[in-house]
Amino acid sequence: MLAGSPGGPRVLLRRLREIMAEPKDTQSRLDMVVRAIAANMVAEVCSLYLLRANDLLELFATEGLNPAAIHKTHLRIGEGLVGLIAETAEYISLPDAQAHPHFAYRPETGEDMYKSLMGVPMLRGGRVIGVLVVQNRTMRHYEEEEIESLQTIAMVLAEVVASETPLETKTDVRNGAAQGIGEVLAEVRSHRFHGRGMAEGIAFGRVVLHAPRVDITHIIAMDVRAERTLLDEALKSLLKELEVLLTSDRLARAGEHRDVLEAYQMFAKDHGWTARLREAVESGLTAAAATERVQMENRARMQRLSDPYLRERLQDLDDLSNRLLRHLTGQIQAPGSVLLPDNTIVVARNMGPTELLDYDRDKIAGVVVEEGADTSHVAIVARALEIPMVGGAADILDWVEPGDSIILDGELGAVYVRPTEDVIAAYRERMAMRAQKQAQFDALRGAPAISKDGVRIKLDINAGLLVDLPHLQDTGADGIGLFRTELQFLISAVFPRFETQRNMYSRVLDAAGERPVIFRTLDVGADKTLPYLRQRGEENPALGWRGTRLAMERPSLLKYQLRALLAAAAGRQLNLMFPMISEVSEFRQARAMVDKELERLKRLGQTPPASLRIGTMLEVPALVWQLPQLLPLVDFISIGSNDLLQFFYAYDRENPKFAGRYDPLGAPTLQLMHSIVQQCDAHDVPVSVCGELASRPLEAMALIGLGYRSLSMSPVSIGPVKLMVMNLDAEAIAQLMQEHLTGPSPDMRALLTDFAIKNNIPH
Ligand code: PEP
Ligand code: MG
Repeated sequence: MLAGSPGGPRVLLRRLREIMAEPKDTQSRLDMVVRAIAANMVAEVCSLYLLRANDLLELFATEGLNPAAIHKTHLRIGEGLVGLIAETAEYISLPDAQAHPHFAYRPETGEDMYKSLMGVPMLRGGRVIGVLVVQNRTMRHYEEEEIESLQTIAMVLAEVVASETPLETKTDVRNGAAQGIGEVLAEVRSHRFHGRGMAEGIAFGRVVLHAPRVDITHIIAMDVRAERTLLDEALKSLLKELEVLLTSDRLARAGEHRDVLEAYQMFAKDHGWTARLREAVESGLTAAAATERVQMENRARMQRLSDPYLRERLQDLDDLSNRLLRHLTGQIQAPGSVLLPDNTIVVARNMGPTELLDYDRDKIAGVVVEEGADTSHVAIVARALEIPMVGGAADILDWVEPGDSIILDGELGAVYVRPTEDVIAAYRERMAMRAQKQAQFDALRGAPAISKDGVRIKLDINAGLLVDLPHLQDTGADGIGLFRTELQFLISAVFPRFETQRNMYSRVLDAAGERPVIFRTLDVGADKTLPYLRQRGEENPALGWRGTRLAMERPSLLKYQLRALLAAAAGRQLNLMFPMISEVSEFRQARAMVDKELERLKRLGQTPPASLRIGTMLEVPALVWQLPQLLPLVDFISIGSNDLLQFFYAYDRENPKFAGRYDPLGAPTLQLMHSIVQQCDAHDVPVSVCGELASRPLEAMALIGLGYRSLSMSPVSIGPVKLMVMNLDAEAIAQLMQEHLTGPSPDMRALLTDFAIKNNIPH
C-alpha cells in the first residue's frame, strides 16, 4: 500500500476519472492530474512526458518542477532517466537518481534538489507514448506496490491522452508556445508507417482490425473483489476451452495446431502470468483492463527481443491474452462478418485472398497489412477489386485501435494513423491531382496503344471475378490476357459445380464480346488453398503440389473445368492455358485431356468452340530451356513473371523481406526475358507477359524495348502504361536495351529512368 494514502491507486483512479470529466481544456486537466498523482503518492514531483512525432520526449505537465520548463524541456529516447525508461519500456526506481550514470540534469527544471525517482513508461498498444515520473527530496525506496500503482495510472493516462480530441486549438499561453496543445497531442497520437504500395490508390477511413482486438469499456474497477472473481473464472474457462481443443479428434492429429495449443496451455497455467494479472486487478483495474495491461507490457518486451523463438513464445502469450479477453467480455466475432463502418480500412497482420473477399466491397476503402508482398494473392485480389493496399507496415497493429482515423497511400506505400490536419490537407490535394490524372487516362480509353513510331502494343487486363468484367469497358483494354479461374473456386465454400462453372465462363465471354479472353485452368496450391480440397501438408508449398501438377494428380478437377469451359465457349473463340508447367511432357498431358474432352463433345453431338487456341504459362525457369521443343506444340505463351522471378532468383514471393530485393529490371531478368521473346518470335508464337512486371510503366517500357508487343496487367495499370506507350519511341528504347543489356553490369533501372525523363515519358 502507498505510504500515507490509505485508498492507494483506487482512490487516485477515481480522482482521475473526476478530473477527466471536468469541462476544462486538456492542459489544465493534465496539470490537475499530475498534482493529484503527486499528492496521492506523497511525492514532491510528478511529471508527465509525452513522445512527440520527432521522437523527442516533451515535458507536458509537472507538479513540483519549474512550470516554465513545460513544453520547453525535451529529451531524446535513451537520454537521461526519462529517455532510458522510454527506450527500455521498463520502470526505474532509484533512491539516489543523481548517482545513476543516465541522470541528465536539466537546469530549467530545477530538479537538482530531488534525490529519489520512480518512473514508468506510458504504454499504449505495446508502444511507449510517454513517461510518468515521481520524485522525492529524500532518498526514498519506492515499494513494489507503489511501482505497480504508478504503472496502472500510466496505463489509464495513456488511454486518456490518446482519446483527447486532436482538434482542440487552445494555445498554450502560459509558455507562449506557438503550437496549440490540441495540435501537439494530435502529433503525439499520429504516426506514419513506411510500407510498400501493394494496390494503387489513396484511401481515407477508419480502422477495422482484421482480428478484432476486444473492446474494453471499463478500465477502473468498481468492485475489486468482483473483478478478482471474474478473472479467476475466466482463467478457469480458458483452461477448460484449451483442454477441449487439445483433446478434440480434429486437432489431435494436427501437429502444428496442437503444439501451439500446448504452448498456450502452458502459459495459461504459468504462475508468473496469472500472478501479474492478479496484481494488476488488485491495483484497481477491471479484470479486462488488467489483462490488457499485462498484455501491453508483454508486447513491449516482445518488441525488444531479437531471438525469434522467444518472440514467438511471447506472441503465443499475446494470443492467449486475446482469448482471455474474449472470455472476460464475451465478445466473439468473426472478422469480416461484422457490421462495417463506411470507409473501412482493414488492418491485419496478414490476410489470405479469401479473407479479403469476406468483407463487403461497398464498405471497404483500403487494406493495410504488416506483412505481405506485392505479388501475393491478397494483393492481386485487392488490385482486382480496386482496393488500395499497403503492405510491410511493420508493427502497425501495435499502434492502431479500432475506429482510429487512417490514410493509406498505395502509391507511396505510406500509412498515416490518426493523421494531423496538415497531412489530411496534403492528401486532399493529392487525391484531387489523382482525379485529374485519372481523367487524362479516361480520355485515352478509346485510343489504341500505339507508340510514337507506330508500334501497336496489345494491352490486356488480368481478371478472375465477375466484378472485374466492367474493367474491360472502363479501361478500353484489348482483352483479358489472364483470367485466373481459381478465384471463383477460392471464394466458394464448396466445390463449384459444372453448371456454376459453365455459367461463370459464359458470362465472362458475354462481357468480353469480340475481345479475346485467355482462361487459365485451375491454379491452386501454394498460397491459394481451397477450403474444401484436402491437401497434404508441405514443407515448401510454393514448390509443391500446385497448378497443373495438382490438376494432373486429381484429373477430375481439370476434366470438369475443361468440360465447363468448352460448353461455355460453344460456337465462340476459346483460349486456354495451363499454369505451372515445368516440362513439355506436362503440357502434352494437359493438352491430351483437352483433346479427349473435345472428342467427347463430338461424340455427344454438342457444339465445339468456333476456334480453340491452347497455350501455356511460362513460370518455371526450366521451361525456358525447353522452348525449342515446346514452341511447336503451343498456340501462345504467357509469361507469369511473379512465379518465374520467384524461382529464377530463389526467393519467396510471399515473403515481404524480399519485396524489392531483386530488381526485375536487373540484367539477369532482362536477359532471360530477351531470350524468351527471341525464341518465341523465331517460332512465330505469340508471347505476352501477364505477371505484375507488365503492370508498371517503366518495366513495361523495358519489355517493349526487348521486343514484347503484348502485355496483360491489373486494370488500374492500363491508363498509365498506355500513356507511357503513346509517348514512347519503340525503336529508340530497343536500341538502348541492345546497347546496354550485355554491357558490364549495367544499372538498367537507372538507364531506363534516365531515358524516360529525357524523353518526357510518364513512367
Ligand atoms: C504469375 O505467376 O506471374 C502469374 C500471373 O500467376 P499467379 O500470380 O496467379 O501465380
Ligand atoms: Mg503463377
